[in-house]
Amino acid sequence: MLQRVLDNIYKIDVPMRDGALNCLNAYFIQGERNLLIDTGFDREESYKTITGALNRLETSMENTDIFLTHIHPDHAELAGRLAGIETRIYIGEKDAKLLNESEKTFSIRRRNPEMKGFPPEVAADYERTYALRRPFSGKRCTYTEVLDGDILEYGGYRLRCIDCAGHSPGQTCLYIEEKKLLFCGDHILFDITPNVSSWEDDINPLKDYIKNLEKLKAYDIEIVLPAHRGVTCSAHERIDEIIAHHNERLDELLCVLKENGELNTYEIASRLTWNTPCNWRDMPTFQKYSAVGEVVAHLAFLLDRGLIEKRVEQGVNLYSARAGV
Ligand SMILES: [Zn+2]
Repeated sequence: MLQRVLDNIYKIDVPMRDGALNCLNAYFIQGERNLLIDTGFDREESYKTITGALNRLETSMENTDIFLTHIHPDHAELAGRLAGIETRIYIGEKDAKLLNESEKTFSIRRRNPEMKGFPPEVAADYERTYALRRPFSGKRCTYTEVLDGDILEYGGYRLRCIDCAGHSPGQTCLYIEEKKLLFCGDHILFDITPNVSSWEDDINPLKDYIKNLEKLKAYDIEIVLPAHRGVTCSAHERIDEIIAHHNERLDELLCVLKENGELNTYEIASRLTWNTPCNWRDMPTFQKYSAVGEVVAHLAFLLDRGLIEKRVEQGVNLYSARAGV
């Protein structure tokens, strides 16, 4: 479906079929040269949806550049196939590096599940079912890195790149000051909380994420255009809600450690509340892995704050609340 947002700005619903998200909101800015913001999975239906929308607008990818809000395949995978000979594909610097480094980036094989305390049967199920899932299938292409503060000009608009790392290392939003309009990718979503996860507790994506939510409060935002689903309140209200959500999660995690003493990552995840229809035991393996990824990001945040301690015993990371906390 193609929908006009403002002069020269359109939204394209790109179907996703699986998962809870239903579709990707791609955006299209029409001008002398056009800009497509996000692309979808490399699937026939996504390809047809986007090329069909461009047909209706009487243009084509030959005359279009692409801006990827971030590296995740539901945003970036189709870019290589869509790109015309002249197409530039912009993406935030850190995500560009990941994409250029190796296709392995998109193998979702998780390292060292034993360090997180995964029971062997869950890790084995994951390896069997998910870890061999196809890697990022996008055609190899050249990405043009954008940096915080860079300006792109399309359709008569000046689009300022804002580094919003957290959900991915290179997540970048685009802001049109004149219209008080923000293309926010997955940095702000409204009826779901953007996933912030990690597999290593020595990096702290949640700290970046919260800092980059706070940063957006300095921007006047009247129109916010997320990459999934709709908008239910103002961007600033949603920012406050998301930060409150993470603070609650951090509190809950700390309570679990205070009540239970030392636990491994998997044990912590199993004791937290999850917004799913089933309990932890019946949760599909893939969801358990995502949950553990979120827990690692929250543990890294608490470690950085000095609120918890970590030690390693027989190759398993163990966490406890710091005395007096
Ligand atoms: Zn994403």
